Amino acid sequence: MSHAVIIKKAVKKYGNFTALNGVDLEIQPGEFFTLLGPSGCGKTTLLRMIAGFNSVDGGEICFDDKVINNLEAHKRDIGMVFQNYAIFPHLTVAENVAYGLKAKKCPKDQIPGKVEEALELVQIGQLKDRKPNELSGGQQQRVALARAFVIEPGVLLMDEPLSNLDAKLRVQMRTAIKKLQRRLGITTIYVTHDQEEALAISDRIAVMKEGNIMQVGTPEAIYKKPENTFVAGFIGVSNFVECEVDGKNPEAAVLNIKDECSITCKLKKPFSGKGIISARPEQLFFDESNGLPGKIVMSTFLGDFIEYEIELNNGQTLQLNEYTKDVQTVRPDGENVKVNFDINAVGVYDAATQEVIS
Ligand code: ATP
Repeated sequence: MSHAVIIKKAVKKYGNFTALNGVDLEIQPGEFFTLLGPSGCGKTTLLRMIAGFNSVDGGEICFDDKVINNLEAHKRDIGMVFQNYAIFPHLTVAENVAYGLKAKKCPKDQIPGKVEEALELVQIGQLKDRKPNELSGGQQQRVALARAFVIEPGVLLMDEPLSNLDAKLRVQMRTAIKKLQRRLGITTIYVTHDQEEALAISDRIAVMKEGNIMQVGTPEAIYKKPENTFVAGFIGVSNFVECEVDGKNPEAAVLNIKDECSITCKLKKPFSGKGIISARPEQLFFDESNGLPGKIVMSTFLGDFIEYEIELNNGQTLQLNEYTKDVQTVRPDGENVKVNFDINAVGVYDAATQEVIS
């Protein structure tokens, strides 16, 4: 049965260095949950604490309502898939998958059937008698997946399982993993530093930075409503533009940008002072009547959209994407333009706290 994984104020220290700084998470049974963040932010550390490979220096790790801080790894109801597959080179594909079942004392007569079923699930049934060195990287990763699934764990933990594969295979395998996870409904915690992979595969994502959780949300919420400038900058492309906010009336706050452009937006509560606008390339548009003056320095036609690099008067560059279905022609390099913001879509942040205020 799939477990909920509840993490309460989890702390991990390596000597004086705090790798996890009081992390709180609630992962639902059957959920596909991803830990995403730059190298060194503590993703693997947290995953290994959930697996039981790392001690817990503060707080609690629970499966459902049971605290498992001190439960040995092999007694936790988990399956694990690593970046380097960690399959046994001297065993065949079928023997690799059977290994975990034997260790779990599965009745002998049930093992061949379960192995066959698991190999069919990851579509490598025909390779069952091969040794790992006779398999491609993608096939080896499927063996590792089958071996993790076959023991029907309550929680499946995956640490960058696709990072050794080439780009095309990575995309194929992530779709395969997502489908399999949906079908089996196993609570899955997945570690990656690849934001596109995280957006594509997850029900929800936790974005981490330096041992802290910066935001938890669905891929859509993380992309469209970043709660701070770190998440806005880490996920997708963001154009950050400084502004002066006059928001005594939060219903009609005025954002003044470099005395060159002023726009009105809604804020959550009154705020006046230095602000930052974060705009995705598709949230900028050309507007001759009101906008930041600049010049096109590069236009790139990419089929469904045109990517423009625009240099503002102060030297800052912005990326603006225009969908080709909405326009007739590509604007030439060197053209003087004005750039405005889709104010209902962009995020506005307090420059001091870097937290969202819109
Ligand atoms: P990556 O994407 O590079 O794998 P990560 O987010 O998984 O990064 P962790 O491996 O969890 O990061 O490491 C978090 C921090 O803890 C890093 O700064 C790392 O150097 C440090 N760290 C990890 N393991 C140890 C250890 N055994 N001793 C000391 N410091 C460690």
